[in-house]
Amino acid sequence: MTVTRFAPSPNGPLHLGHAYSAVVAHDLAKRAGGRFLLRIEDIDGPRSRPELAEAFRRDLAWLGLEWEEVPAQSTRLATYAAAAQELLARGYLYRCTCTRAEIESLGPRIGSQGAVYPGTCKTRPPEPDKPAALRLDMARALADVGPLEWEDAVAGVQRADPLEAGDVVIVRKDAPASYHLAATLDDAADSVTLVTRGEDLFAATPIHRVLQALLDLPVPRWHHHRLLVDASGQKLAKRRGSPSLADRREAGEDGLLLAEQLRLHRFPGGISLASA
Ligand code: GLU
Repeated sequence: MTVTRFAPSPNGPLHLGHAYSAVVAHDLAKRAGGRFLLRIEDIDGPRSRPELAEAFRRDLAWLGLEWEEVPAQSTRLATYAAAAQELLARGYLYRCTCTRAEIESLGPRIGSQGAVYPGTCKTRPPEPDKPAALRLDMARALADVGPLEWEDAVAGVQRADPLEAGDVVIVRKDAPASYHLAATLDDAADSVTLVTRGEDLFAATPIHRVLQALLDLPVPRWHHHRLLVDASGQKLAKRRGSPSLADRREAGEDGLLLAEQLRLHRFPGGISLASA
């Protein structure tokens, strides 16, 4: 059974790029007689505005999509904490008290997930009074799990090589998990078989693949779709004048028609799919 999901973070209203992502995930499931899930990823620290979830549901209904909603991430914190404790106890995580400014001041290499952590706290004596994040000791994890592959429905079989991303954060200082840990655990708990999302998250998948191997989770397939970009080639964003789905709905636009246009790759106002 194909199970896909749309997993928006309530940090701001949904726009056309989200609508495209939801339609792609919805149709992949429905065409295969499967299930399409909605999961609200509402643990993004102070940026998270859980009240936006209701607007997201209205947006999806307006587009004519049918979904099953699974529990929001804020209700699953105990699961994240238990997995993090397990990884910590097994020696795969270490405490990191560095601030972003401290890391930047070291002139770090930039990887797919931003600054690559130089490992300062790995060897530093613990500073118990300072707020700490938990980082994955990537080299150690990879040494133990061995070579890994993952399969993208569009791009084919990939070698998982997350060393380029370095020791990514697994539990944030300001949130009970990182996106990587929460989404990986949830996709397993929700029985997702085809993780459908934008290509901007392609490089995060090797990290998720390692977490699956460490935590003995089932391995889904992935479908990373191309992103919608505006006339200047940039990702759609409200701050660059891209109207939200709520704006379109309130202006009387027909959501069913919009969903059909997205399926046909007919995009309004200079918007197009980014080249692969
Ligand atoms: N919550 C993420 C976002 O809104 C999506 C995560 C995912 O699809 O894996 O960007």
